[in-house]
Amino acid sequence: MKKIFAANWKLQKTPAESAEFAKDFLANTSVDFFKDKDVFIFPQNFSLDAVQTAFKNTNVKCGPQNIHTEKSGAFTGENSAEISKKMGCELVLLGHSERRQFFNETNTELEKKVKICQDLDLQIVFCIGETLPERESNQTEAVCFNQLEEGLFLANKNKKIVVAYEPVWAIGTGKVASPEQVEDIHLKLHKKMRALGFIDFHILYGGSVKPDNAAVLIKIPHVDGFLIGGASLDVKSFLQICLAN
Ligand code: 13P
Repeated sequence: MKKIFAANWKLQKTPAESAEFAKDFLANTSVDFFKDKDVFIFPQNFSLDAVQTAFKNTNVKCGPQNIHTEKSGAFTGENSAEISKKMGCELVLLGHSERRQFFNETNTELEKKVKICQDLDLQIVFCIGETLPERESNQTEAVCFNQLEEGLFLANKNKKIVVAYEPVWAIGTGKVASPEQVEDIHLKLHKKMRALGFIDFHILYGGSVKPDNAAVLIKIPHVDGFLIGGASLDVKSFLQICLAN
């Protein structure tokens, strides 16, 4: 199974900066680089077209960091999955904890978004993860399982799903989950996805992944790649993470 290295740029990089990143990234990779890995980029919306254009006909795929619950219509300010598809995007990031936390995104909304993406053949990267109080009260498993059960309720089990486990307390904090914590939850998530009937899935780890911890984390069973924030903004550190083994 190919590992997936996904970059979430949040509100960073202008179109020009994104195009520069793409040029630099491609100059430092060859066909061989992609033999055992896939690279996904989730740029800020204003830079999506620049990223899509720069990586056209390459092995790098991209897509928006969120879409609306309706394909089209009068929803000022929202993102259309249909338009991203027409632009040539192949991916959508869904359910990031920042969207759940700051925009009150619910599992019910996510369930609809998952369906829209799958109907359009957009590959979903579906984020889950617990907060610190939830971990400290031993609710990690219950929270993550619930997010999978409800958010993926309408998902087509025959289509590939990428799940990104990102403990909220490890995002942008420099605090990485310990290898034991990652191994434990990834095994449970793997079993849960199988129990839910999914056949083709990846489970990525996210939360303060850096070049200096990537080699340890990528060797953990059922860690099928990473979702990377801060360290994906710099070509050199992103490449170091992609090449860690
Ligand atoms: P950091 O890698 O900056 O902790 O961000 C993780 C993240 O939120 C990726 O979606």
